[in-house]
Amino acid sequence: MIRSIALPRVWVACPVCGSDDAVTVLREIVGDAHRVYARECPLDVQGGEALVRCRCCGMAYINPQPRLPANLASYPPSEETAYFAATRQERVGGAEHLLALLEQRLGSRGRLFDIGCGDGALLSVALERGWQADGIEASASLVAQLDANGLVEHVQLGRAEALAGDDARYDAVVLLNVLEHTLEPAAVLGEAVRVLRPGGLLAVHVPNYAWGRLWGRRWHQLQPLEHKHYFAPRTLHRLLVRVGLMPLARFGLPPASPARARLQRFLAAFGLWPGSGLGMLATRRR
Ligand SMILES: [Zn+2]
Repeated sequence: MIRSIALPRVWVACPVCGSDDAVTVLREIVGDAHRVYARECPLDVQGGEALVRCRCCGMAYINPQPRLPANLASYPPSEETAYFAATRQERVGGAEHLLALLEQRLGSRGRLFDIGCGDGALLSVALERGWQADGIEASASLVAQLDANGLVEHVQLGRAEALAGDDARYDAVVLLNVLEHTLEPAAVLGEAVRVLRPGGLLAVHVPNYAWGRLWGRRWHQLQPLEHKHYFAPRTLHRLLVRVGLMPLARFGLPPASPARARLQRFLAAFGLWPGSGLGMLATRRR
């Protein structure tokens, strides 16, 4: 029998506009697995989470938010490793696509910083393409694996809310499927802006809540122990502006399957594909 555990939960204000006036959208969400892990040992989490939507700006977020003690994780280490191995090909394809976009807009390769760099797939591609690339990753087990990939000198272990180093030292900063996990998205983006040079580019990609709203409880990204914040185009745009960025354009990350990519392009051409992922390019105001 699996033991159950009560997690501490913290009430938060809207991460985009700061209002605490929100309406409950979904109650008692338990996701695919409402479990946490002490290494490989599973523990059931007591109670479900609620998804709320800010009445002022429309941002959707989990409230109150469960807080994981340092000795617990949402995934067992073996599952985390398997996930990164299974999705690497798709993420390498996405990295090629995004780096080509950044190179086209900047007119050159330069210094790049990858916040939440995971297994270093984007860093490897960036280094191959001639970027000077560094990253930060909060998972100690993932950073340990970077050693085997020859990336250890490019990555620091730490959290994105407080980056080390000088202001304005990067030409591009990337956050791919990271912001929805963070406790304080505005603080993370604020740090990203601090290390980005004026005129430099920030690329952020999150699950698209405009798509998730259509699916309700069946949306596979609705994972309240991991994903605390659910951005739609309007709310992501507003937060980027708030931290001193000027949004420039949206981008998507192509799926690994060429057939799926063709179908998405076809539906998008007729305005029938809202996009399960939401990417935005923005520049730091000069
Ligand atoms: Zn709000």
